[in-house]
Amino acid sequence: VEARETYAAARPVSAALHAEARAVMPGGNTRSVLFWTPFPTAMVRGEGCRLWDADGHEYVDFCGEYSAGLFGHSDPRILAALRGALDSGLNLAGVGANEVRLAALLCARFPAMERVRFTNSGTEANLMALTAARAATGRAGVLVFRGGYHGGVLTFPAGQPMQAVNLPIPVQVADYNDAEGAVALLEGGGIGAVIVEPMLGAGGCIPADPAFLAALREGCDRTGALLIFDEVMTSRHHAGGLQMRLGGVRPDLMTLGKYVAGGMSFGAFGGRAAVMDQFDGHRPGTLPHAGTFNNNVLSMAAGLVAMGEIFTAEAADALWARGEALRARLNEVAAGAGMVFTGAGSMVTPHFRPGKLTRPPTTASAEEEQRRELFFLDMLAGGIYLARRGMVTLSLPMTAADTEAFVAAVSDFCEARRPLL
Ligand code: PLP
Repeated sequence: VEARETYAAARPVSAALHAEARAVMPGGNTRSVLFWTPFPTAMVRGEGCRLWDADGHEYVDFCGEYSAGLFGHSDPRILAALRGALDSGLNLAGVGANEVRLAALLCARFPAMERVRFTNSGTEANLMALTAARAATGRAGVLVFRGGYHGGVLTFPAGQPMQAVNLPIPVQVADYNDAEGAVALLEGGGIGAVIVEPMLGAGGCIPADPAFLAALREGCDRTGALLIFDEVMTSRHHAGGLQMRLGGVRPDLMTLGKYVAGGMSFGAFGGRAAVMDQFDGHRPGTLPHAGTFNNNVLSMAAGLVAMGEIFTAEAADALWARGEALRARLNEVAAGAGMVFTGAGSMVTPHFRPGKLTRPPTTASAEEEQRRELFFLDMLAGGIYLARRGMVTLSLPMTAADTEAFVAAVSDFCEARRPLL
């Protein structure tokens, strides 16, 4: 209560904006993840890896727009690409050279992508991948995993009944990293697609066991279902996606999103030519896939520079190594404090319970939830902005001093709040 009051007292401008917003937007904003009590922080400016809120506080941005902010807020090469695209006019309603080049770049980079199509978001990319799989197999059933998040309409939180917003897709739900359970469901029949994140992102930064992914591949091959890797968050972990670090199991389809267009809105789905060519308009009976902003000139221009010039294979490896080192440091300072940091590479999530996690907990005690909130509020007070659920993502402009500042803030939290942990 005290931490909440301190938070609110220091942010009168955010509070006033929230009051105004509630009159026109349910809950006062337009993204569930950006709501928290008593009210979310309004941001007004970003530069490099820093953010400033409407009340004048400065933060190191460890939220990183839930991993879409890989390049920070002001990379000059991305800004130049955007300005160039702006000067050539918006909404041209035609195909363009940048989209062809970006598609070629992604296909060269992700071995699982023989063909690719663009969308506006990761959610759409996953919906289109599921559509492609259903058409290819003639089966509507989809196998998903508890804790999986594939977009606001495709969310399967652990420990909760399926949400009302789930689309009427006949899903069967298995436990993450439980190969036997998943394969048993596959063998039950009717499943046309298995969709899985190689590391649960929203579900708590819990990586897949390589043997689990291999078993899914094998189960799909045996039953004729298509395997879809949702790499919307995880593709940053290696030039070819996290799948390449986890044994190289190749999906039939994979999806991308978040950072790929340099911070502009983006999504993509792609995979085996035989499956993707269902969308080929040269063929009779082509599957439709449209979208006004699919090839919007800003995303295409920024994406080409972001993936072609900045986030090279070497940059992906370097970022991975920095994230691995950070997580090890965090677990060192949190040792004995009743918490653990999970994740892979540059994405990390604290859990307010000790011990290894192979799947998201299905129950969280009230104390655990309180610790999570306290952690969040303490980090904000210390100038560290992160996701409300605790997830942290690194961005390219961050220096060793920035990550050390986070380690120091975690260390202070463990010290100051030890009686509560
Ligand atoms: N898939 C995963 C794994 C995600 O983490 C997200 C977003 O957080 C999505 C899909 C949805 O992407 P978008 O928010 O761009 O629709």
